[in-house]
Formats: sequence, structure tokens, C-alpha cells
Amino acid sequence: MNEEKILQVNELKKYFNMGKGSVLQAVDGVSFHVNKGETFGLVGESGCGKSTIGRTIMGLYEKTDGDVLFDSKNVHELSEKERFNFYRSMQMIFQDPYASLNPRSTVREVISEPMEVHGLYKNKHEQLDRVYQLLEEVGLNRDHANRYPHEFSGGQRQRIGIARALALNPNFIIADEPISALDVSVQAQVVNLLKELQVEKGLTFLFIAHDLSMVKQISDRIGVMYLGNMVELTASEELYDNPLHPYTQALLSAIPIPDPDIEESRERIILEGELPSPINPPSGCVFRTRCPMAMEVCSMKKPVWQEIGQNHYVACHLYDETLENKKPVKQLSKV
Ligand code: SF4
Repeated sequence: MNEEKILQVNELKKYFNMGKGSVLQAVDGVSFHVNKGETFGLVGESGCGKSTIGRTIMGLYEKTDGDVLFDSKNVHELSEKERFNFYRSMQMIFQDPYASLNPRSTVREVISEPMEVHGLYKNKHEQLDRVYQLLEEVGLNRDHANRYPHEFSGGQRQRIGIARALALNPNFIIADEPISALDVSVQAQVVNLLKELQVEKGLTFLFIAHDLSMVKQISDRIGVMYLGNMVELTASEELYDNPLHPYTQALLSAIPIPDPDIEESRERIILEGELPSPINPPSGCVFRTRCPMAMEVCSMKKPVWQEIGQNHYVACHLYDETLENKKPVKQLSKV
């Protein structure tokens, strides 16, 4: 694996002013990097801030604090011209293929629009050839070019969205819940397509999703988020074999195992309560109101982000070696 860092997110914060003095802390000091050519999975329940991170990296939202460096350049300090060029390198695939395509444009127009904006081809003929080529690369064909988005299935529309994202030959793609709106049978096809395109084109992906089982299939490393904070980060296999954070353990225990004997005997960790509001997050560890292992210290002190094993990071007082009494204040809830 290439270890050249193409994206660095340092202590990123994104707060939204909600009026009347209330502030929504969507992203509250998150750090990670993405290596060239890898797929980094960002996972967590909806409302945890993962999509806000994607949009802030793209510059669609101003940051509140911290830095985002792409190819060593601060994306929030780009000039207008640099930003224009930045979008040739970084593109986004959106969650909802129904909403992200203009219903009044043909597929040809949808895919060729970014090429026209960036003046990529000298003549229409060359441009149309490229549209045909992209359609074939995403598993559609040239006959689809003159049709409208509503004539396609959800999976096909997401393929059109992927073709549009590839139109400028980017090297980095943020895929924001690209399969959540699709039928389960189609999800694997789209994930496989993204994997194939990655190998063919040497793409780097930031893959945002709430479904850990699908993220595992595509990601080299995974970051787990909860209420605007990164709580654990490590290689995909390591996360599944050795989850450290109680939230990751709960998420993994909810994934069904296809073997009925193992499935019957395993313990499932049930998280009690709702996701707290990011307008008024819990003190100390933001997960403490639902954590089956919560200790007294958890309400008083925010856990530090630390490396526990090789390239395995976690933010949890259970791994704080300076703490002596690590007794949970309530019993682990299992069924
Ligand atoms: Fe649970 Fe405390 Fe660890 Fe937070 S710091 S995850 S509340 S044990």
C-alpha cells in the first residue's frame, strides 16, 4: 500500500450557528489522513457528522477550525482559480441518485456538463466519445446517452452519478453514502464497480456510510464516528477482529453472521437511548450516555485520542493507563 498522504484532516471542527445562541457541533476536532490509492471508510450513525466532514473537505462548507490539506494545499485557502482546478482532482458521488441528477437533462448532458465548464475537449465530437466511454466504464452503454434519469433504475442512476464524477478524471472521490438509497441486491454491484474503477484508474476514495458490513468490503482503513467525534481508527481487518471502543463493539455485534450456529450463540450489545443532540452534547466522553462500560471519569473528562496498537487509534478511558479504578457504573446490556 502506498503510504503517501494525499489528504490530511487536522483537528477539523465544523459548527453551525442555529440562532438564539445555540450552536450545533457537527464535527468537533476530527483528525485523520487518507493515503494515495486507498479507500478510507468513514462510518457512524446518521447525524454523527460524517457527511459534514465530506462536504467541508470539498469546501462546500467553510470550516470552523482546523485544517484540510489536499496534496499539501490548504483547501480552505485556495484562490478561485486554484479551487476550480481542485475540483478536477476531487469529485463527489452523492447519496441520492434520484436527487443529484437534473431530471430535465439527458444523460449525455449530465455527464458532459463538467467537461464543458472546464473546457476539457476542443470539439463536441471528442466530448461525446468521452461520454460514451464513461457510460461503458460504469456498465451502461451509448444508447443510454439520450435518455433521461427517470428512465433508469436506482442502481443505473447511481452509475450515471459515478460517470459524472469521473468526467474530469479526478484522482480522489468522496462517496457520500453512495449505496444507502439502493436495494441490497444492487449495493454489492455498485461497490464492486467502485473497486474495479479504483484499480483501473488508481483512484483514492473517502467512502462515507452508516453500514459497517458494506464499508468493510471496500475499505483499507476505517474511522468510526460518534456525535461529531472520531472514536476509533484502524485497518479494516483489525477493526473487525479487535474492536476496542464500546461503540464499535456495539456496531459490529449488530451485524448478522451468515453461520446460524455462531449467530445463535453470540452476544449482541444493545445500545440504550437515542443519539444525543449535537447542540448540547454530553460532557466528557460524548458516548457516555449510551455506553455500557461508562465509568465516573467518563462524564468529567474527554478521553484522549491515542495509539493503542500499531496504527490502531481509540478515544476511550478504558485504555487510559493512568486510571486505576475502571469499574463501569452500570452493567453491560447484552441479549
Ligand atoms: Fe464508554 Fe467511558 Fe470509553 Fe466513553 S470513555 S466509550 S463512556 S468507557
